[in-house]
Amino acid sequence: MIEPQEALRIVLEKSPRLEAVEVPLPEADGAVLDESVASDSDLPPFDKSAMDGYAVRSADLARLPADLAVVESLPAGTAPTRPIQGGTCAKIMTGAPVPAGADRVVKAEDTEALPDGRVRILRTDPGRNICLRGEDVRKGETVLEVGRVLRPPEIGLLASVGRERVRIVRRPTVAVLATGDELVSVSTVPGPGQIRDANSWSLLACCRRAGVGAESLGVARDTEADLGDRIARGLKRDVLLVSGGVSVGEWDLVPKVLRDLGVTIHFATVRMKPGKPTLFATLGRGLVFGLPGNPVSTIVGFHLFVLPALRRMMGWVDPAPPTVTATLAAPVKVRGGRTSFVPAVLRREGETWVAKAVETRGSADLVGFSRADALVVLEPGTHPAGTRVEAYPL
Ligand code: AMP
Ligand code: MG
Repeated sequence: MIEPQEALRIVLEKSPRLEAVEVPLPEADGAVLDESVASDSDLPPFDKSAMDGYAVRSADLARLPADLAVVESLPAGTAPTRPIQGGTCAKIMTGAPVPAGADRVVKAEDTEALPDGRVRILRTDPGRNICLRGEDVRKGETVLEVGRVLRPPEIGLLASVGRERVRIVRRPTVAVLATGDELVSVSTVPGPGQIRDANSWSLLACCRRAGVGAESLGVARDTEADLGDRIARGLKRDVLLVSGGVSVGEWDLVPKVLRDLGVTIHFATVRMKPGKPTLFATLGRGLVFGLPGNPVSTIVGFHLFVLPALRRMMGWVDPAPPTVTATLAAPVKVRGGRTSFVPAVLRREGETWVAKAVETRGSADLVGFSRADALVVLEPGTHPAGTRVEAYPL
């Protein structure tokens, strides 16, 4: 039996960073950039109005109100045709190029149209209301470095600098296999002794959230033959997630079947609750996770071990799931000798996070677990209200 931190260390050590691929921009969201990207132009590319209003010369506003002639109207997307000379201005919209001669935009709310077609400037705010050419970045400067996780802002930035395709670290392919003679499909009404397969679905959802596509290999019966067939198929993927069949029961055949297929098991029990029978194995560069079948344990195991492995493969520099420091809202007693990952609700109270354990009936209770949005890490013992704890937001 090993400690959870040691288990994570082994998992990360065995998780290979995958090779780079070039993909169209929309497919890059959630991936890690494998190239340094420079801007192909100044951003903004021209002096640009930040407001709807009038482009003016500050010198004309020495005394207010000031009445100015309007020489043209500049919606976004048009080029100015006339420089602004003393006593004149141009009507301008947000995003339009500021005409030569103008050094400030007065917003429409600070003006009044006069019946003769001129405009009266009533007030000005201290800002110029102009985004200057190149003030965000200059042409040729780096906007994104290798290793950046691409989120919507980065995707928008890549579009701004004209990148239709980008080099990212390939995402792993994942196969999900549920095991158990008692399992029936979601569309079936369970007969005596049967339950519906929850874990295929929760694991597929976990993968989707991690930005990784996953395929289901269905449900394996608890026989060496069926497990062997399906696991062999799963081993063709970068990562195979098996739920159930990894504890010490008579029908828990997964470790044996894995060994028979030449897979190396690195650990099979972790000093944690839930999730003691968590298995991690490799075949070449491929990873196999055996997660205990109880639906809460499966999701906890994914969060603590599978998610960091996927992120490391995708090129994340810091793949461990983030934690926050919180204080316990009420006392919690942890029995037994294992580190507990206690389902809890996190809420903000002033400057601190407060964690309140949710009532659950254990690692089979998805109803209770679904009310939690965090896992609080607690060693065995009694923890009074106010104890500072580490929590993984889910
Ligand atoms: P196991 O790890 O196979 O011993 O299973 C532990 C518990 O989890 C048993 O009560 C199983 O019925 C349950 N279980 C196993 N696999 C699933 C699944 N895919 N969906 C829901 N419950 C499961
Ligand atoms: Mg089972």
